[in-house]
Amino acid sequence: MATRALVAGAGGFIGHHMVKYLAAAGLWVRGVDIKDPEYEPSAAQEFELLDLRRWDNCLLATRGIDEVYNFAADMGGIGYINEHHVDSARNNVLISTHMLEASRVNGVSRFFFPSSACVYPQYLQNVPDVKPLREEDASPYDPDEGYGWEKLFTEKLCQYYYEDYDLQTRVARFHNVYGPLGTYDGGKEKAPAAMCRKVALGESGGEIEVWGDGLQTRSFMHIDDCTEGVYRLMHSEFHQPLNLGTDRLVTINGLVDIVCKIAGKSLKKIHNMDGPQGVRGRNSDNTRVNKALGWEPLISLEDGLAATYRWIEDEINSSIRTSGNQMQRH
Ligand code: NAD
Repeated sequence: MATRALVAGAGGFIGHHMVKYLAAAGLWVRGVDIKDPEYEPSAAQEFELLDLRRWDNCLLATRGIDEVYNFAADMGGIGYINEHHVDSARNNVLISTHMLEASRVNGVSRFFFPSSACVYPQYLQNVPDVKPLREEDASPYDPDEGYGWEKLFTEKLCQYYYEDYDLQTRVARFHNVYGPLGTYDGGKEKAPAAMCRKVALGESGGEIEVWGDGLQTRSFMHIDDCTEGVYRLMHSEFHQPLNLGTDRLVTINGLVDIVCKIAGKSLKKIHNMDGPQGVRGRNSDNTRVNKALGWEPLISLEDGLAATYRWIEDEINSSIRTSGNQMQRH
């Protein structure tokens, strides 16, 4: 019989792609979320709308399941998580705590939790040319407020379920995942999608707003590397938190330049120094992932952004066409 997987948060960016990956790998998949996927139908055999902050719903979601991929979370880009400490901390602790316990009660064998580079101490990330972060650098703790503390707490909870109940928990610390079919407007979008949207809407010779001086640095991982890495980690013996990201450091200005080149547009950067920026620099040290999985993310930023930009440009053009048609009808 095929392995039965639950993807929680299957209406969101990573969860939706994970459903596709698992279904293509031959697993039977149940997707659960509080909303349907926004841009295309789910590839899941079953899709249920459930609020996973509620214990009874977590019991329902995990019934008859072998593997849980818990991507359900209240989160967004730096603007959103800076402004919503209570929402992200409270909602996500409720979801993860109930999902772990419901998984134990229902006899789930493996449980994946997506943590974040936001768990790393802010004191190690105050220069653009930052030293790549190793997993052991997380302590002494000084994570991002709200979201970062929630991720650290759930990492610990995963460790305790592994130790006390033999639930095979797996934890990856993602570093900025991007790609097609991700939120690109409305306030929850992350930097790569926001930059693609701004460039797609901009006229060559015009301007583009960048938060901060644009010299802040990050590394970015394409969604196809993310789903591949999650699957490999889930089926490995490695049960401690593991970085999942690329180790190519790029400034936000550099990210804008790559997108402009893809679009064939020239835009003048206007730096909004009041915009939220997060830490000054953040990069992944991939020594441990290479050792644990014999693999690391491979897709270049140029290739990944080209696909992402084309998708966002198409979405924007088709929504402009739809609203134009609607205006004509009224
Ligand atoms: P996303 O917002 O696209 O997806 C999260 C999904 O969870 C959404 O569809 C949302 O509706 C759903 N959800 C929220 N509250 C829920 C609830 N109460 N019950 C059921 N579903 C609920 O986010 P994403 O980018 O796909 O992120 C998935 C996971 O990966 C999150 O845990 C996030 O913290 C983690 N992560 C993502 C990144 C990244 O760069 N995207 C980086 C680090 C960690």
